[in-house]
Amino acid sequence: MTEKTENKMDKIVSLCKRRGFIFQGSEIYGGLSGTWDYGPYGLALKNNAKDSWWKRFVTDREDMYGMDAAILMNQNVWKATGHVGGFSDPLAECKKCKKRFRTDQIPDKKKCPDCGGEMGEERQFNMLFKTNVGALEDENSISYLRPETAQGMFVNYKNIIDAFHPKLPFGMAQVGKAFRNEIAPRDFTFRSREFEQMEIEYLVDSKNWEESFEHFRKEISLWIKEVGIDDDGVSEHEISDEDRAFYSKRTIDFEFDFPFGKSELYGLAYRTDYDLTKHSDASGVNLIYLNEETKEKITPHCIEPSFGLDRTVLAILSSAYKEDELGGEKRVYLKFVPKMAPVKVAVFPLLKNKPELVEKAREIYKIIKKEFGAVEFDDNGNIGKRYRRQDEIGTPFCVTVDFDTLEKGEGVTVRDRDSGKQTRVSENGLVAYLKEKIQ
Ligand code: ATP
Repeated sequence: MTEKTENKMDKIVSLCKRRGFIFQGSEIYGGLSGTWDYGPYGLALKNNAKDSWWKRFVTDREDMYGMDAAILMNQNVWKATGHVGGFSDPLAECKKCKKRFRTDQIPDKKKCPDCGGEMGEERQFNMLFKTNVGALEDENSISYLRPETAQGMFVNYKNIIDAFHPKLPFGMAQVGKAFRNEIAPRDFTFRSREFEQMEIEYLVDSKNWEESFEHFRKEISLWIKEVGIDDDGVSEHEISDEDRAFYSKRTIDFEFDFPFGKSELYGLAYRTDYDLTKHSDASGVNLIYLNEETKEKITPHCIEPSFGLDRTVLAILSSAYKEDELGGEKRVYLKFVPKMAPVKVAVFPLLKNKPELVEKAREIYKIIKKEFGAVEFDDNGNIGKRYRRQDEIGTPFCVTVDFDTLEKGEGVTVRDRDSGKQTRVSENGLVAYLKEKIQ
């Protein structure tokens, strides 16, 4: 990691805290490693990303069924999938400093990357968070916080078939929390112990898997552009036969150049009929698909595009973070695409102590807010300070009400975040002007 990139990550983390995007989980108690709390702007950014994912992959399509399954599931689900026996990473402890590491992520398995001490024996560490459901703590009450959203869909496959009679190919989609007791959470929200996933289980006739795989490969690239992730920093990594999960016949990782290095952003996997077959065998419930026209019975195969929502937010932040000089002054700004920006427009009176300006600005603010929702009114400090704050949270447009608005009826100024350019826009034309720019 170069000093420059390390610096950028530190700056993003600090901006996120300072401006109310993301905070360390349980901070006032010293934190809880691998957990992060989203503040108002971080949550708005996350929701914007989630909503446009849901629109692209669910509501704009005819072949997708949305789901929201319970996080706690019958323990047999995780036995059937192999998670109880094998959802593990290789772990070793340094004999000297006692720190634990994932041995597949350190340069030398025998040497501690922190203190240089000798590493102990490698063992497999299961990442499932175990809990008990109900008042009795015994073998039968064991459950796990789900480590992925995928299985909540597979176990509802029959319900979807019975309720909707979909034709192949069709998909189930879900957004929700997942939990993994990661050995070494790191790189801000990149590797957390509690995070959100957006996943699709797309069921196909095995004869046609390649067509759907290619379709989602393109869709993932389009989505990356849509949310403003710098696509020059994205690359596809074809996972080799040796490194792929044994049930997968093809997997591509979409990697992104994060400030700390190139790492997995999303995954696209052809999972064959592994999941449905395992659940059918373990539950004793027939999970066959009957083609009502040909009367053919098959077990559908699955294409799984899997997206991390927190990694999406981090990639958007890394792509948007910019430093430049404007009007002779250094500034930091977040160059979000307007659709992702937590605040779309900010409205200011030029001066705080002129009631007629404040009143007019409030009037305009109410109209704009009704239209765009995420709109702020700000009359704190001087105008330069207000611009700086809005730049740092990535607000694409700032509207200022001045004396020409009141006295000459000359409309308002609209300042563009990226160029700093101000344009005079009539009051009547303001909503249409902003609508065109934002949408
Ligand atoms: P990695 O190799 O980075 O551990 P993975 O291959 O285990 O990831 P998947 O099981 O394929 O990840 O999970 C699907 C997606 O969920 C990932 O592409 C990523 O975006 C997200 N994800 C997985 N683990 C985490 C985590 N600990 N924190 C945040 N996001 C995660």
